[in-house]
Amino acid sequence: MPRWSRNLQRWTAWVAFASSLCWRAGLAVQHIADPDTYLEQTQSLATVDHPRFLQQLALLNQEAARLTSDQLWRLRYSNAWEAMYENDYPKSEALFQDIIRHAGNRALADKASATLLSQLMLTRHYPEAFELADRLAARLPKVADAEVRRSMLLNLSQSLALAGQIDLAVQYARVALTEAASGKSSCYSAASLVAGLSLGHRLKLDSPELQQAIQACTAAKVPVFSTDLQLTVVDLYRLAGQPHKALALLDRIAPSVEADGYAANKLEALVLRAQALAAIGDDDAARKAAQAVVAMQKTGDWPRDAYEVLYRIEKKQGHTAAALDYYEKYVALDKAYLDDVNVRTVAYETVQQHVLLQKLETESLSRQNALLRMRQTLDAKTAETNRLYLALLLMALVSAALWMFRLKRSQLRFKKLSHLDGLTAIFNRQHFMSEVERTLRLLERRAGTACLVFIDLDHFKHINDTYGHAVGDDVLRQVVVASKQHLRPVDLFGRLGGEEFGILLVECTRTQSMVIADRIRLAIEETRVEDDGVVVGVSASAGLSFTDACGHDLQCLCKEADAALYRAKRGGRNRVVAGAEYGCPVEA
Ligand code: GH3
Ligand code: MG
Ligand code: MG
Repeated sequence: MPRWSRNLQRWTAWVAFASSLCWRAGLAVQHIADPDTYLEQTQSLATVDHPRFLQQLALLNQEAARLTSDQLWRLRYSNAWEAMYENDYPKSEALFQDIIRHAGNRALADKASATLLSQLMLTRHYPEAFELADRLAARLPKVADAEVRRSMLLNLSQSLALAGQIDLAVQYARVALTEAASGKSSCYSAASLVAGLSLGHRLKLDSPELQQAIQACTAAKVPVFSTDLQLTVVDLYRLAGQPHKALALLDRIAPSVEADGYAANKLEALVLRAQALAAIGDDDAARKAAQAVVAMQKTGDWPRDAYEVLYRIEKKQGHTAAALDYYEKYVALDKAYLDDVNVRTVAYETVQQHVLLQKLETESLSRQNALLRMRQTLDAKTAETNRLYLALLLMALVSAALWMFRLKRSQLRFKKLSHLDGLTAIFNRQHFMSEVERTLRLLERRAGTACLVFIDLDHFKHINDTYGHAVGDDVLRQVVVASKQHLRPVDLFGRLGGEEFGILLVECTRTQSMVIADRIRLAIEETRVEDDGVVVGVSASAGLSFTDACGHDLQCLCKEADAALYRAKRGGRNRVVAGAEYGCPVEA
């Protein structure tokens, strides 16, 4: 026989209200001077002076335009509470959900969640209730507000007890009891602990938790809870097979049950009385009590147990038809109860599976995220390494290019140096000759003309001997500088050896060449080198040969120029002598 379910129904009802009970009744205020205080005070009246609560709530709703956003949310909470009180559950649920999602006030949202949880349990919306319970349990460690925490702990304790999780339910209630600061909080928490233990069949007449709860609620002057706990004791007497004691206690608390005006306690007292009376064989009194119960309520656990009493009495008295009628009613309600237990259990299991699945998904997601982050870091590092390699490669390339450029430059410089005469920096003999040869080939192709000039300084040995080799060198350099003045860039100029020079005048007629050669001779003659106050001068002889006589044959041109130079020397030096006009001199 499901004897414990009545406790549950009673508990569900009062936890719903305990969630919002403040029991801090203040004086009613006519005008809203301080909306914050007024809002708090109004909510505190909800259970102690409901008519005044309604009055003040109406005034607040009228003055809503004057309230701040946060105050409006708190007003909405009171409106939600009132809707729940009036059994308008769709309206209250919508309001609570709105507060939870949009209020932005964490404490208020937590309070709304806790109250909504008790409502969802009361209205048997188990899947939603257990889902919310799960969220509340996760949220609990972050909640600091004592009252909100108590409300959450008690609602969690209750919903877990309903799901058959007695250990957890008892644990939450014990935490609430430990944290309870005021007398009222201790009463609610201790009463919840008793309810949890009772549901788990763990409560005995001498359980210390029971005595503690009775003391706490008596001291805190919470009559509804004190009466409730006394009814629990009555039930324990009944279970222990002590119907007389049960009846005696019921008689003792009867005035309180009446005075409280709490329907759940009234029904419970009546059912317990019917059961105890039946147990002592007072069938008429038992029948009266049981019939009073079914007159008050048609469905639920109280009429179920009342019908059971009625069935047993009628059966005992041989009223078969009446007994069968009561039995059918009893079975129907009992089935509904068992169905409800099943629904609750299945809902709880489903939510747990769902939560587990979500947790697994979250874990795998966070693992994936970690992997992704690692990959990103790795990618970033690889990119960085690649950039570094690229930079290194670039640097290597640049320095290789630079190195090659320098190498090339020095090669070119060496090459150039190897083509030049060390003293005068004009072409040396070898390079001069090869350049002359190359130019002659070019001129030959386009039938261009050229004149080869050989110059030899006169009595140079004498200068060396008289002034020294260094002065001789100086003279050589000055001669080159002076000669260059009369040459064009296209002309070739080289030192053939010692004090002999060669010039190739390009695209020059015989006359033009003679003029240029003579200018050079003159320039040399005018060259002066100073040495210790002594001025040194020099003269030169030149011999010319022409392509119009020799063609573009280097050998012929050289021979001819040489011969002309010889003639210039023989003719008295310091002069320019032109080579033959026709052909090369025949080899001797
Ligand atoms: P000539 O008028 O017949 O040409 O008389 P010369 O003295 O110039 O005759 P020769 O060709 O015999 O002398 C050339 C001299 O030039 C001989 C050598 O000492 C000198 N000489 C050759 N190379 C250099 C050089 O690089 N520097 C100096 N200072 N003298 C050089
Ligand atoms: Mg010479
Ligand atoms: Mg000479």
